[in-house]
Amino acid sequence: MSPLGLAFVPPAQAADPDVAIIGAGVAGLAAARTLMAAGKSVQVIEARERIGGRAFTDSTTFGFPFDHGAQWIEGGKSNPAMAIVREASAKAILDRSEQAIYVAGKELSKEDYERFEKIAHEATRKIDEALKKQPDVVVGRLLVPQDRLEMLAYAMVGPLEQGVENGELSARDFTRQPEAEPQYGIAEGLGAMIARWGAKVPVRFGARVVRVDSTGAQVAIETTAGQMRARAAIVTLPTGVLATGKIGFAPQLSAAKREAIAQLPMASFNKVALLFSRKVIDSPAGRNVTGFTRKDLSFDAIVRPANREAALVFVGGAQARTFENEGGRAAVTFAVSALAEIFGNDLRGAVAKSHATQWGRDPYATGAWSVTRPGHADKRLVLAQPHHDRVFFAGEATDPVWATRVGGAYASGLRAAREALAVLSAPRR
Ligand SMILES: Cc1cc2nc3c(=O)[nH]c(=O)nc-3n(C[C@H](O)[C@H](O)[C@H](O)COP(=O)(O)OP(=O)(O)OC[C@H]3O[C@@H](n4cnc5c(N)ncnc54)[C@H](O)[C@@H]3O)c2cc1C
Repeated sequence: MSPLGLAFVPPAQAADPDVAIIGAGVAGLAAARTLMAAGKSVQVIEARERIGGRAFTDSTTFGFPFDHGAQWIEGGKSNPAMAIVREASAKAILDRSEQAIYVAGKELSKEDYERFEKIAHEATRKIDEALKKQPDVVVGRLLVPQDRLEMLAYAMVGPLEQGVENGELSARDFTRQPEAEPQYGIAEGLGAMIARWGAKVPVRFGARVVRVDSTGAQVAIETTAGQMRARAAIVTLPTGVLATGKIGFAPQLSAAKREAIAQLPMASFNKVALLFSRKVIDSPAGRNVTGFTRKDLSFDAIVRPANREAALVFVGGAQARTFENEGGRAAVTFAVSALAEIFGNDLRGAVAKSHATQWGRDPYATGAWSVTRPGHADKRLVLAQPHHDRVFFAGEATDPVWATRVGGAYASGLRAAREALAVLSAPRR
């Protein structure tokens, strides 16, 4: 029996698994599938009542799949997550939507579109040039907007793309990432595909891990639903969850690892889904609308997704955090106003259903994805290092190239599984 009085698995019925995997997101599921394919026994331990973590599709509320978290496989076919598409026998659909840009309710003129292109190009050049001279720099020091068009273009570098303000954005971490385009969607929803792909992995749901002790012959894992032991463990938790200190390690994590966790905070990025009772948006299906409202707040949106009378509005950075602090309705009110400026006030009275994600308030995510604080781009590799030989670290935050994305989570799960396999095949001490 555990100190909490609950047996995790009755010892008479189940042997200790070779590897315990903490977290049933993409990283944990990828690690589990790899180890299972290599003939090892695994047990995934998950605090929620579902798998997928930050990849989750709500397929019922709106009549179309609404991905609360990850939605696209970005960066083309070289994205490691394309392997999931193949393994799940799913189909990746190239997103061909064109971007329409609005400022204060009006679409840009031809001249402004051309200027916008130049501003975006120049922003990339400034960042690249600066990085030739120094190891890292705060993006906000390089991109100082002089007018609204620049404000919007720069918002698409930090808040709307990375989920952080440019004043907190590391140029090195930003340029590390492969371009988002081309990006692919999944008809059933990316989260739904992940849920299918991971369905055969053994998961203990509703068990929040509170301690990982590798001081004994086996790794002892204490959860809110009891204890278990395994020969090795893989930790895939978001850095924000690790930073809360609600999960303890024995021996204590090294100072370098604790510093890495502190320097990899979570970005803020949320989505608002709106379903309208009638046609109120005069636009082709699936159009990408990016804008700056009359109150100088930025947003990104997909209008009429899947040919529905609906919209998905995305907010990021400080603005997303503010809406979270004000409660879910604040983001919905903003999303409706932002669209009403463009498509007319008629849509205000036609909202039939709405939902705003609040990833920052989700205790098992604490934010959208990891970002490195300026000057700390090397910390992802530090976080990825094993702890005390038999405790391995995975999760999007640990991947040097595809961090922040599903592809990074997937690649990190494979890497951690290989590390665990090496330990399992070594002679027992
Ligand atoms: C709004 C949003 C939009 C996004 N869009 C995209 C996109 O379009 N494309 C893309 O590639 N990526 C996107 N991402 C990022 C992507 O979702 C993540 O990079 C990826 O899903 C992370 O997977 P993971 O396995 O590393 O972590 P997670 O999915 O967070 O998995 C960790 C798991 O650990 C569990 N857990 C937490 N604490 C405990 C505990 N104490 N004990 C046990 N279990 C615990 C969690 O419940 C979770 O299931 C987006 C994310 C968000 C939030």
